[in-house]
Amino acid sequence: MSGYRMMMLGPPGAGKGTQAKRLAQELEIPHVSTGDMLRDAKRRDTELGREAAEYMNAGKLVPDEVVIGIVAERLEQDDAAQGFILDGFPRTRPQAEALTDMGVELEAVINIEVSDEEVVRRLGGRLSCPECGAVYHKEANPPSQDDVCDKCGNRGLVTRDDDRPEAIKQRLASYHRQTAPLVEFYEQRGVLEAIAGEAGPDEVTQEILDRLAD
Ligand code: ADP
Ligand code: ADP
Ligand code: ZN
Repeated sequence: MSGYRMMMLGPPGAGKGTQAKRLAQELEIPHVSTGDMLRDAKRRDTELGREAAEYMNAGKLVPDEVVIGIVAERLEQDDAAQGFILDGFPRTRPQAEALTDMGVELEAVINIEVSDEEVVRRLGGRLSCPECGAVYHKEANPPSQDDVCDKCGNRGLVTRDDDRPEAIKQRLASYHRQTAPLVEFYEQRGVLEAIAGEAGPDEVTQEILDRLAD
């Protein structure tokens, strides 16, 4: 199978994290999520976390140099030597260029396509576990016991600060303005795989695996 250096592209709420976790397990490569790393820094209240929180809570992108720095450091770790799944990076053209400058040639960019209406439905119902990062949906994928994380048993699932209506609007705008141009960027490089993202999670996973096997 090809595609060991891959990336998940798509609007907020497209299902990038949900799919990246499954693929990472299936392909035995690390899931590198800038959103997860930034939220972790926020939770630990580090300098990085405090800086990033202002942008994140407003639904704005964290400055390029900050995110590029944490990704460069993460990809140098040993477990990334055989490949990785980037989730949520790159999100701007300068970030994509910085990745190339790090010597990373992506073999597959999985672009999960969903409408803005579906984004609003998904983010509006997303529940996240603050302890382990597991993700649920109030209607489409509820935890088996109300308010308890299936994965780690933590009681108290939360709506992310940026999954509130004003922030969702802002994130969609940032996506269309800053991130959507990467579709063409990677299409031109011949690595883009467009995936219909509105099907159920199992179907989407299968479609991605089929595409990677081609
Ligand atoms: P992203 O990482 O792109 O922001 P997530 O993987 O966190 O997206 O998914 C956003 C929300 O949509 C979550 O509540 C998740 O449970 C739900 N979700 C993910 N994939 C699907 C799907 N194929 N169908 C319905 N809901 C989904
Ligand atoms: P989403 O559900 O929107 O895909 P993520 O968890 O990937 O959310 O990202 C959450 C927030 O973290 C973003 O709205 C942004 O503020 C910040 N962030 C994550 N990745 C990046 C990035 N590559 N560049 C700039 N900001 C980022
Ligand atoms: Zn949990």
